[in-house]
Amino acid sequence: MTTEMDPRLKATLGEQDHRKVVAPYIKLISVTEGARGDKVWLWDLRFTQPNTVHIPMAAVHSLEHCIAVFIRKHLDGVINFGCMGCQTGFYLPVMNMGDYDQMCDAVEKTLNDILVAKEVPLANEEQCGWAKNHSLAGAQEIARSVLSKRNKWTEVFK
Ligand SMILES: [Zn+2]
Repeated sequence: MTTEMDPRLKATLGEQDHRKVVAPYIKLISVTEGARGDKVWLWDLRFTQPNTVHIPMAAVHSLEHCIAVFIRKHLDGVINFGCMGCQTGFYLPVMNMGDYDQMCDAVEKTLNDILVAKEVPLANEEQCGWAKNHSLAGAQEIARSVLSKRNKWTEVFK
């Protein structure tokens, strides 16, 4: 369990001015501690530049499915994975996981999984609420673009 917060995460904690950030980046939004000391670390995975480029809905939806399923192979304690309504990023709450480099590595592996995926997981009418609305090619295009800036993920501001 991580006890001390990485200074890079501390510096960008919370909601930031969306005009001052540079996507893609990974940052921490909040840490919520429970009564027994467990901590929920809420991560912000921002893939495209706010108010400039949004991810098409079908690609957002497929990224959500793919990352929700694939990231669990690389990371313990994943609670959920959800899209931001603005279609520029995702929320990732994780139990007791505050290691920045480990998080970036897990996301890198997950995006590489998407590049070689043959289909979008859970994209069927039993397990999804809009099963026709998917684009694996769209998700792969975004994954490729985000991976091409892997060395910038921890640089949140201009
Ligand atoms: Zn769905």
